Amino acid sequence: MTTTFTSPIEPTTSSPAEGSPLSTAHSQLAAAVDILGYDEGLHRMLATPRREIHVAVPLRRDDGEINLFHGFRVQHNFSRGPGKGGLRYHPGVDIDEVRALAMWMTWKCGVVDLPYGGAKGGVAIDPRDFSRSELERVTRRYTSEIMPMIGPDTDIMAPDMGTDDQTMAWVMDTYSVNRGFTIPAVVTGKPLAVGGSLGRGTATSAGLVHVTTAALTEAGEKLEDVSVAIQGFGKVGSHAAAIFADRGARVVAVSDQYGGVRNDDGLHMTRLLEHVAATGSVVGFDDSDPVSNTELLALPVDVLVPAAIEGVLDEHTAGHVRARYVVEGANGPTTAAGDVLLAKNGVTVVPDVLANAGGVVVSYFEWVQANQTYWWTEQEIADKLEHRMVSAYADVSGLARRQDVSLRDAALVIGVKRVAEAHQIRGLYP
Ligand code: GLU
Repeated sequence: MTTTFTSPIEPTTSSPAEGSPLSTAHSQLAAAVDILGYDEGLHRMLATPRREIHVAVPLRRDDGEINLFHGFRVQHNFSRGPGKGGLRYHPGVDIDEVRALAMWMTWKCGVVDLPYGGAKGGVAIDPRDFSRSELERVTRRYTSEIMPMIGPDTDIMAPDMGTDDQTMAWVMDTYSVNRGFTIPAVVTGKPLAVGGSLGRGTATSAGLVHVTTAALTEAGEKLEDVSVAIQGFGKVGSHAAAIFADRGARVVAVSDQYGGVRNDDGLHMTRLLEHVAATGSVVGFDDSDPVSNTELLALPVDVLVPAAIEGVLDEHTAGHVRARYVVEGANGPTTAAGDVLLAKNGVTVVPDVLANAGGVVVSYFEWVQANQTYWWTEQEIADKLEHRMVSAYADVSGLARRQDVSLRDAALVIGVKRVAEAHQIRGLYP
């Protein structure tokens, strides 16, 4: 079936800045569309968010002053089900970043075959500068502003950078109080006490280790024999470091926004985690040498995990990567130019929409459990997560081999194709 637009609409911003998350997302989609042979009309449909909202979020500070923040929610696609995706609190949040992140959620849910479309939200705020009660007020006001857009059958939020399980509890409570009854399935990644799922907190990291293991196994290698460097020591990076170390890999370097530490014999994980709990950073950990974030990206390791923010592997840094595998814990850590350099140097990139999909997979399990009001054991969740991640890796890797394309192109092709098929089978209304 062909789709053509007689009066074309611009898919989001007409020309996002080169290297920006939206330009990266657009060029990844364009590559998949090219492989799939879709026409320009379908391409534009896939590139264009279904709904967007931009809200003002006023906050009364603890000292009485009023601040105003920009908040966004973008619902990129609903062809396969309700929108799904995180809520980000970061000073750099803008509408184009949220558009990119929402689009990646659509393909991510497609790759791991979840009955969801993609969405994302964000508030341009630095959560470190605000008290807990200020963050609660921001969260509740943002939730009220976007109330008409969200719901357990329309758009389901989860934590992302700068937000956590407590944030989700506030969203859930605000939504529920306004509707008049408790609706746990409006968010995932919430605390266990209000209907969260066992295993959700570590799910992204556990999934990342599963796909890394699958990639190594395919190449006849073992996790026990590899060294790992991890950029970013937040929710994804810290748990990934712990799980990698627990499974026998040598985690030789980690970093956060303040700097990094390195020990080629392997960092002592239990003591490192204690140090971070006590000081708030990996910096200053004894039994290690300092390493900068840029140096970490260029270390001669087997596996490099960028687990911080978008665009860190770009035309300046990607050419220096000496890892054999880049496993993307963050969303969009590699720009289009970065991808070209990594491919040129023979680095295997396990792309974000596959590598970090474990979080949304267990979000889905949480939503299913909330909808049936019956909770599974931690072991059941761990087994189902592993099965889904390993089989998604096999699908992506199989397609990459058959079509002689990168794992990124293969993952995008699988995700995009599932969405396009659903879109075409449903047909256009009216
Ligand atoms: N924020 C996470 C992501 O980017 C999780 C999203 C979710 O669970 O809905 O994948």
